[in-house]
Amino acid sequence: MTDIIQLLPDAVANQIAAGEVIQRPASAVKELLENAIDAGSTQIEVFVKDSGKTLLQIVDNGCGMSATDARMSFERHATSKIRSAHDLFSIRTMGFRGEALASIAAVAQVELKTRRHDDEVGTLIRIEASEVKDQEPVSTPVGTSFSVKNLFYNIPARRNFLKSNPVETRHIIDEFERVALANCQVAMSLHQNGMEVFRLPVGNLRQRIVNIYGTNYNERLVPVQEDTMMMKVQGFVGKPEFAKKSRGEQFFFVNNRFIKDHYLHHAVANAFDELLPKDSYPSYWIYLEIDPSKIDVNIHPTKTEIKFEDERAVYAIIRAAVKRSLGQYSVSPTLDFDKERAFDVPYSDQFKPVNKPGVTINTSYNPFERERESKPIQTAGWEKLYEGLRNEPPAVTTDLPATELPLEQALNHPTSIVFDGPFQLSNAVIVVQLSGAGMMMIDQQSAHERILFERFLRHSENQVGTQHDMFPVTLQFTAQDALVITELQEELRNFGFDLRDFGRNSFVLHGRPDMIEKGTEKETLEKIIEAYTHFQSVQASDVHKQMATSLARSLSVKRGRKLSTLEMRRLVDDLLKCKEPGIGIDGKSCSWMLTADEILSKLKR
Ligand code: ADP
Ligand code: MG
Repeated sequence: MTDIIQLLPDAVANQIAAGEVIQRPASAVKELLENAIDAGSTQIEVFVKDSGKTLLQIVDNGCGMSATDARMSFERHATSKIRSAHDLFSIRTMGFRGEALASIAAVAQVELKTRRHDDEVGTLIRIEASEVKDQEPVSTPVGTSFSVKNLFYNIPARRNFLKSNPVETRHIIDEFERVALANCQVAMSLHQNGMEVFRLPVGNLRQRIVNIYGTNYNERLVPVQEDTMMMKVQGFVGKPEFAKKSRGEQFFFVNNRFIKDHYLHHAVANAFDELLPKDSYPSYWIYLEIDPSKIDVNIHPTKTEIKFEDERAVYAIIRAAVKRSLGQYSVSPTLDFDKERAFDVPYSDQFKPVNKPGVTINTSYNPFERERESKPIQTAGWEKLYEGLRNEPPAVTTDLPATELPLEQALNHPTSIVFDGPFQLSNAVIVVQLSGAGMMMIDQQSAHERILFERFLRHSENQVGTQHDMFPVTLQFTAQDALVITELQEELRNFGFDLRDFGRNSFVLHGRPDMIEKGTEKETLEKIIEAYTHFQSVQASDVHKQMATSLARSLSVKRGRKLSTLEMRRLVDDLLKCKEPGIGIDGKSCSWMLTADEILSKLKR
């Protein structure tokens, strides 16, 4: 019998390792950016084509490599950053496993150009699927340029597994942002398909955040600063009133490395506690500096998780630091969120006589409209209800202020009682009496979302209803937003937005969905982009549904908004025309029935 154990060929071993380190174009961006930072670069440029599927290029002005090092850098466990296992405990650089370049080179066509400051010529290396194709002297600027072409070209299964372009692009932007936020001292830029997405000059942290997210972030930031024996905490938290409806802007950096940590996240969330409206998430950019020997970075292959020696102390310090900052900037809970909503009277109602609290009369009540409601309804089935109202044209209510109030909170603020229906409970719930059948209660926001969602889906299927304007307007966006619009252009067209690229992050709007009021297009698009970019796991096929969801969410009438009788009727009417009038687009109920029998059975007891 012969022996059967063999060592795996390097190329195979590298491919296996690549599966761990390089999952998608964004992972390569992360590794290459970290290498560029470790090389002491002061300027890094990233070029992306086709979401990194065809090309990723990272150009730095760092220390560069000798010809031998350049060749060596692609070997597995090749690293200049660690000499012994002991070094692992004092590591302050980004990389240290020496696997990244070997992994990338195993699954792509890589071209490396590099030159050190004191060398006259640089080195060019071409390598494909771990095989060196070419190595020669080359004239190149000081620093290093890595081009990664056709990632996963030799592993079709992995390549097919990649998500849609917008999703992969979003991942790249995420990684870029994380490195950019941790390295304000480095000028960084990102280009995708020839379009500039970011240009970040050297600056302080506040400037960097503003450069990434937009100037309106300047007023949203509250500084956090805490020095203890054990560690240093600094950074910013977002003011509670700007808290997002989606997770996203939440960053922890430990010794300038981005990490994910649910436990520490909880510390921040806990410090915000009652300051936040329900279902919203605080923004934070928090930087911890801690003795490297007190943490273990090496527990996760992609190194976004670390272990602290004294987790509880870290938790306590972070929580205290955030709480203190919020307190200092006197962001008080009662002021912002327990505000009495009853005073938020729509402008048009401001000159109406003020009603005494308690029982009031609905001034817009029209007794002649009653006739239609009093048709006897035999059954509580959705289709039969409100038959008489069905002939009215569908309502469009997009001119509504975006005052939003969680349902529970809204219910705790009874403002008035109006007899006869439809009437509105606490500016949040519509109550209609269905003669003979009972009562129906409708969550105005969820119901309106449902209505708009179905309408937008229908709209996009039929491709009708684009409103063409005689004088098209030009809309200017931020670099990030413009990028997303370009990615979504086709889909947006289906929804009635006829946008044409006008260069420099601007677009000419030749048509808008007829459901959207003139002048609100930019705002609506921004809301779609915002919602869209926070959905990371979307498959291309779901883009459609998700866009309808975003549109519905952003255009819906919010809880806390007072509705006129006519608006309520239309809403009820439109809801009953929906395919699923009982379920909101979040999957929860948006309307309830209380049948006459149920009510009467209570009386009998
Ligand atoms: P690690 O970063 O863990 O050391 P990598 O595979 O990412 O492993 O890189 C291997 C080595 O190649 C690094 O240790 C470094 O010496 C060298 N290197 C990689 N990228 C650069 C760069 N942009 N500039 C200079 N040297 C680099
Ligand atoms: Mg590295």
